[in-house]
Amino acid sequence: MAEKTDKMDSIINLCKRRGFVFPSSDIYGGFNGFFDYGPLGVELKNNIKQAWWQDFVHRRDDIVGLDSSIIHHPTTWKASGHVDNFTDPLVDCKESKMRYRADQLFFAPVRVAGETIGYVSLLEAEGMQAKAEELAADLKRKLAKQGAMEPVVLRDYTEAKPEEHALIPSPATGKPGSLTPPRSFNMMFQTYVGAMQDASATAYLRPETAQGIFINFKNVVDTGRVKLPFGIAQVGKAFRNEINPRNFIFRSREFEQMEIEYFVAPSADWAAAHRDWIECCLAWFESIGIPRDKLSLYPHPAEKLAHYSKGTTDIMFEFPFGVQELQGVAARGDFDLTQHSQVSGQKLDWFDEAAKARFIPHVIEPSVGVDRVFLALLTTAYHEDVVEGEARTVLRLPPRVAPYKAAVFPLVKNKPELVARAEALYRRLRRRFNVFYDASGAIGRRYRRQDEIGTPYGVTVDFDTIEKDAGVTVRDRDNLSQVRMSEDELVRFLDEKVNGA
Ligand code: ATP
Repeated sequence: MAEKTDKMDSIINLCKRRGFVFPSSDIYGGFNGFFDYGPLGVELKNNIKQAWWQDFVHRRDDIVGLDSSIIHHPTTWKASGHVDNFTDPLVDCKESKMRYRADQLFFAPVRVAGETIGYVSLLEAEGMQAKAEELAADLKRKLAKQGAMEPVVLRDYTEAKPEEHALIPSPATGKPGSLTPPRSFNMMFQTYVGAMQDASATAYLRPETAQGIFINFKNVVDTGRVKLPFGIAQVGKAFRNEINPRNFIFRSREFEQMEIEYFVAPSADWAAAHRDWIECCLAWFESIGIPRDKLSLYPHPAEKLAHYSKGTTDIMFEFPFGVQELQGVAARGDFDLTQHSQVSGQKLDWFDEAAKARFIPHVIEPSVGVDRVFLALLTTAYHEDVVEGEARTVLRLPPRVAPYKAAVFPLVKNKPELVARAEALYRRLRRRFNVFYDASGAIGRRYRRQDEIGTPYGVTVDFDTIEKDAGVTVRDRDNLSQVRMSEDELVRFLDEKVNGA
C-alpha cells in the first residue's frame, strides 16, 4: 500500500513540476475538487479527446458529433430525473464537521460471546475487511472482553438502522455519537440565469453531457444524416458537487466526459449491442495504451439497477489506489427519449420506412471521463529505471497521445551551421507534429528531461548531419535504440508512429 501511495505521490509531484496538472487556484491555496491542466497536460488531454473523436466519429459511418450548451433549459433536469434523483447519501460528523458519502462509510457491530460490545467504522479503502477485523480485535482488547469474537460483517452506512446511528464511531474522531443519519444531497451545481435571483431563474450546470444529446435527438434526426442504428457523440465539461473529491483527478467536481448515445430499434437484441459496445470500448482503451490486464468488468447486480436500466457494466481500471470505474456502459432502454417526449410534448421517435412504423429507439450509453483516462494513461506509463548507470523517470506514453512527438537537439550549440540545421528541422517538423527544441545542457540530460514528460523520440543533429548530409540520429525513449535516418524518412517515421500505418 505504501508503495502504491508513493507512486501516486510521485505522479502528482511530476504533474505539478513538469506542468501536467496543477491544483486549481494554486496561489489562493487551491480549491478542493478542481484542477488546472498545464502546458503539457492540455496537450495530453487534447490528444485523448482527439483520438476518441477520430476513432468513434470520423472513422465510423454510424456516429455523428454534437456540442450542446452546458446550461440547458432547467426542465431538462426535471424530465431526466436529475432534480429528484441525482443525489448521494450524505452523512455529517457534527463534531469534526467532516462530511462523508454514506455509501462509502462502512461499519460493523463487534460481537463477543453473543453480546454487542461496540462498533467499528472505516472509509472505503483497500484491505477493508482485514482492517475492520484489526479494529474489532483492538476494541475487544481495550474492553478486556473474554470469549469468542463473531466474524465482522461490514455494511455501508445507508444500511444502518436508526438506533445504530448514534453508536457508530465517526471515522474522524473514532468516537460514537456525532454522526447524523444519512440524507439526500443533490449533486447538481445551481446557478441563476438573468438578473432575477429567484426560483424561476434557477438553472443547473450539467452533471453529464448525455442529456444534451437526448434533447437534440430530433434536431439531429431532422438533418437527415443518420439511419438507425446510429450514435451521437459529445465531449465536454460536466460538473458534480461531489461530497468527497479524492484521488487527485479521479473524482473532481469539474471534469470532462466523452459520451455516446447509440440508438437501436426496440426489436434489436439490446444485450448483444451492449456486449459489442463493451468489447469496442475495451479495444479502444488498449489501442491508446491502457493494457487489457489492468482492465476488468463489473456488471451491476440486477437488484441495484435503476428502474429504467436494463443492464450496466462498468469498465474498471487498476489504479494505484485500487480497482475503480473508468467507464460506464449502460443499456437505458427508451427511458430518456420517452421522458423528454412526454415532458416537452414533442415527438422524439423514429419512422421506419420499411415497416411503416414509428417507435422510440432504445439506447446504449458508453460514458467515460477524460480525466480518468488521463490518470489511467499516466499511471500505466510512469516508470523509474536506470539507464547507463543513471536513475531516470520515464513516461512510456504511446506516440499518439504523448504531448510532444519528438524533441530536436543540436549536438552542440556553438557551431552555427549545425544549430541552423537543427532549427530548420524543428520548424519543418512542427508544421505537422507538436515537437520540442532543446539546445541546452549535455545530450544525456536533454534525453532525461524528455523521458520524464513522455516524448517518444529524441532527434539529434550532429556533425555528420552537416558534413556528410548523413541524416539524423533518432533515439527511442523505451528501448534506447539509436537509428540513423534522413530527414524525409523521419517525417514518414513520425507520421506512422503518431497516426498509424
Ligand atoms: P462514480 O460511481 O465513480 O461516482 P458514476 O457511476 O456516477 O461514477 P457516471 O455517471 O456513469 O459515473 O459517469 C460516467 C463517467 O464519467 C465515469 O465512468 C467517469 O469516468 C466519469 N466521472 C463521473 N464522475 C466523475 C468525477 N467526479 N470526476 C471525474 N470523472 C468522473
